[in-house]
Amino acid sequence: MIRAVVALGANLGDTAATFAEAVSELRDLPLTTDVVCSEPIESVAITLDGPDPSAPGYLNAVALLTTRLAPSVLLDALNDIESRHGRVRAERWGSRTLDLDLIAYGEVASDDPRLTLPHPRAHERDFVLGPWASVDPRARLAGHGRVADLVERLREAAR
Ligand code: ADP
Ligand code: MG
Repeated sequence: MIRAVVALGANLGDTAATFAEAVSELRDLPLTTDVVCSEPIESVAITLDGPDPSAPGYLNAVALLTTRLAPSVLLDALNDIESRHGRVRAERWGSRTLDLDLIAYGEVASDDPRLTLPHPRAHERDFVLGPWASVDPRARLAGHGRVADLVERLREAAR
């Protein structure tokens, strides 16, 4: 059994309703139990050109789950859930109805571009780290230390 961390993001449509459905679809995944999701938070859209306050704002949350699905199978399942919610891959980091990123899969490290673990940008994203620390105050991000400490450092840097 592996503990996996999934980040949810959405800035189009009824984002809160989409999250509720996505979490229930995570609960329905085979070989997967103990799905818990953080409270959602709001964040400014980040595009390839940086933060964009004129784009629709994001809802973000982090779900923890326990699974026996292999990492690539879990990523395929996450992509299926995205597709069912109308996700269209138009542009990288563009607006979307639902984005599900696999942030961590146990202690597994991988630099495969199709599935990089831990997620290569998680350590600098307060909208991932904050909700993650809220559901798992003791969480650690491989190579970066305690998630709660990372949150604290990002908040200090932003002051
Ligand atoms: P974004 O970076 O905006 O989330 P996508 O969701 O379209 O963009 O994902 C882009 C690519 O990132 C996908 O083809 C996927 O295979 C790859 N990828 C690599 N590592 C991960 C990961 N840990 N979680 C999710 N997708 C990943
Ligand atoms: Mg993604």
